[in-house]
Amino acid sequence: MIEIKVRTASRVEARSITGEVAQAVKNKEGSAVSLFVPHTTCGLLINEDADPAVIGDILDALNRLVPRSHSYKHAEGNADAHIKSSLIGHSLLVPFSDGSLVLGTWQGIFLMEFDGPRERKVQISVLK
Ligand code: ZN
Repeated sequence: MIEIKVRTASRVEARSITGEVAQAVKNKEGSAVSLFVPHTTCGLLINEDADPAVIGDILDALNRLVPRSHSYKHAEGNADAHIKSSLIGHSLLVPFSDGSLVLGTWQGIFLMEFDGPRERKVQISVLK
C-alpha cells in the first residue's frame, strides 16, 4: 500500500489529488487502483476537474443540504462534517491500464475536506 499525505487549507474544500495519485501509481502493474481515506470527516469524489464552478456548486449544494449549524446530537461541533463525509464516501475504485489511471476526459479525483484545515492520509493500492 502507498500512502500520500494531503494538507488541506480550509474547513471545507475540494482538493484535486489526481496528479498525486497518478504519480504514486505510475508504471505499476494492475487493473484497478483503490483509494481510501481513514478519516470520518473527509471523503473522496470523482467529478469534473475542468470548470472549477462544478466542484464549487457541489460544495455549495452539500452546504445547503447539511448546514453547519443545526441541533445535532454530536457535541464536538462537527456533525455536519461527519454527515457530508458519509454522503460522499471514503473510497474509490479507478480503472488502471498501462501504468496509468483511466479517467474520463473531464474527470478528476478530489479529496473532499469537511473539517479542515488538516493533514489527511490517502491510502492507495494497485489491484492485480
Ligand atoms: Zn466529530
